[in-house]
Amino acid sequence: MVALSSDPEDGHVESTGGCACGAISYRTEATLRSVANCHCERCRRITGHFMAATGCEEAELDVTDDGALRWYEPSPGVFYGFCSTCGSTLFWKTDDGDGWISITAGTVDQPSGLTTSAAWWTAEAADYHSLDRSILNHEYESGASGSEV
Ligand SMILES: [Zn+2]
Ligand SMILES: [Zn+2]
Repeated sequence: MVALSSDPEDGHVESTGGCACGAISYRTEATLRSVANCHCERCRRITGHFMAATGCEEAELDVTDDGALRWYEPSPGVFYGFCSTCGSTLFWKTDDGDGWISITAGTVDQPSGLTTSAAWWTAEAADYHSLDRSILNHEYESGASGSEV
């Protein structure tokens, strides 16, 4: 499968991706945001390491789902989307009305063309993990310069 295909007409790039078992797939013609890592304890437990997420406007994301997609709501208005068949974590969103959906970068088909630009909640990063100091590191969430993931 080809993750990135350039349309010579308008330079548009399409991204595709999906879960490990294939029950859920997605595609978008939106330009995906650079990857941000979230090391908060909740993301660490849910992903098994840390959340590395890109994202786009939810309205620009076409999701194909055979019924396996489930949403876990660990606190009111915060949702992690995962495949109930294979367990892949695919999405993260809130109901705050910003229209944004975060997409776990590891589910984007390769080559993704993405780069990692920032890390959040580094104060909660696991002790076995070596943080990348070449990117912007935020100890906690700062509303001033970005969102959690
Ligand atoms: Zn799956
Ligand atoms: Zn997090």
